[in-house]
Amino acid sequence: MTAVDPLDAISDPARRAQLALFRALDGAVRSSDELRSTLAGFRSQKGIYKPRGSPYALWIRETRRGAYPDKQLVVRPDGSWEYDYAPEGRHGKTDLTLATNRALLKCLEDRVPVGVVRQIPGSGRGRLYEVAGLGYVTGFDGAHFRLRGEPIDVSEPPTIAPADFRFEPFDRVAPTLALTLRRNREERFRLAIRRVYHERCSLCNIGYRVGRTPLAIQAAHLIPFEDGGTSKDVRNGILLCSNHHALFDRFAWTFDEELRIRVTDDRGFRASAARNHILQLDGHRLSNLPDLDQDRPDPVAIRYRMEMFERNQ
Ligand SMILES: [Zn+2]
Repeated sequence: MTAVDPLDAISDPARRAQLALFRALDGAVRSSDELRSTLAGFRSQKGIYKPRGSPYALWIRETRRGAYPDKQLVVRPDGSWEYDYAPEGRHGKTDLTLATNRALLKCLEDRVPVGVVRQIPGSGRGRLYEVAGLGYVTGFDGAHFRLRGEPIDVSEPPTIAPADFRFEPFDRVAPTLALTLRRNREERFRLAIRRVYHERCSLCNIGYRVGRTPLAIQAAHLIPFEDGGTSKDVRNGILLCSNHHALFDRFAWTFDEELRIRVTDDRGFRASAARNHILQLDGHRLSNLPDLDQDRPDPVAIRYRMEMFERNQ
């Protein structure tokens, strides 16, 4: 089966370009001024934006004054997120006959994605938003629209039932798969890992940031990419600071199925790291883990990594 990008099915080029922009900005933090200059309707519209003449909504915006201002996105192993969005109302009551709400229902009916931006706390001038990429409206429960973000592999529909999240340790893709598609998937894998570990190193719990930009934080594969390790599932990954990533890649440490840190016995390393707290972490549990148990590293991937570690001792 050939991988198909759902955006290719959108015939209106302007609309397709805007949706592609949401995907490209996924995970980015931008000021409202910056978004006004790039996103259609952002200057004038709040809540749900439905371009004139289109039956579909193009994007939704969550503001901090909304019903659930502090709610985090719930990320699933395939990298998709879940999120509930309150419909627009009239006189304090939900009114599904409003054009904006109808435009979201139309997206649900025809499985058309919408862009999602969410205001985040910020200081200084202007409001800050996090772009959450593209999402699909998967239902309306009487009080909220249920939204589901695009998975890492955009050509696959997001898995709905958690029971379906079976861990496939290896990607069954031909190495000849279009390079851009592969690269795109790697980027989305890294983004999903960052989201699930909240931009902090799993080992030392540090998340460096300068201004709005996270720095020196990297997503690592457990089963390496070169060995065909999957990039479609966050359970084959972990987020590390650049020091701990480099040491992980050189088998200075790993972790076991109980997520306990194991530091190499290598004398040279132990002597050089004597003043570093990594030696004191030996035997301790990883300090920063995903909120959901189901997003944690998979035992199959952990064992694979442990075998690599043992071979390199
Ligand atoms: Zn670290």
